[in-house]
Amino acid sequence: MTRLIAEWIWLGGGLLWFVIRFPHQRRARKVKVAKSVGGGRDQVLLMCSLGGLAIIPFIYFLIAMIGGHPVFADYRFRPWQGWVGLVVLLGALYLFYETHRQLGRNWSVTLETRKKHELVDTGLYGWVRHPMYSAFWLLAVAQAFLLANWIAGLAGIVGWGILFFMRVGHEERLMIDTFGREYEDYMSRTKRVVPWVY
Ligand code: SAH
Repeated sequence: MTRLIAEWIWLGGGLLWFVIRFPHQRRARKVKVAKSVGGGRDQVLLMCSLGGLAIIPFIYFLIAMIGGHPVFADYRFRPWQGWVGLVVLLGALYLFYETHRQLGRNWSVTLETRKKHELVDTGLYGWVRHPMYSAFWLLAVAQAFLLANWIAGLAGIVGWGILFFMRVGHEERLMIDTFGREYEDYMSRTKRVVPWVY
């Protein structure tokens, strides 16, 4: 594995990410919204996440492809880190695909509930409450391994981390407001993103 191959793997994974999401985004436009609580705050958080997981690393990718390495803040690429990045990326893509499938019409890019919203608490959602966010964490970690640059590599963990920590409590509040005891019971038997740990 070379630095260049790892960078192309990062790009390929990113494109697949959008391919997986695309049909859900289309369908989501047709499913009526019952309650929306995200507001402008959530839009800012989404921009942080997009900046860290897509915009900053993509600019880095372009600079590296056009001007070659070293780019500012590059460090020495080691082949094993590329392999680790690839494996983590594949896990992230699988989890991202499967959580969209299992959440179905209840999915939203922002904090809202749908008409006839159903609580999903089986399958991957029986293991953790936010398996799609687990997929995003894995994506951010994969980026850190695949891009041997302190800024572009770590931007995903920072950008995604901001969205995650500033949102997850609000999302759980929304679920409690919607499902009451049912969600509280669900919370008592599951963790957020890593089974048995957190
Ligand atoms: N946090 C979840 C879902 C992300 S999509 C995950 O990581 O897998 C965000 C939307 O999903 C929220 O607006 C909320 O309405 C909905 N949601 C979150 N958890 C849910 C659940 N267990 N069942 C149904 N909908 C859920």
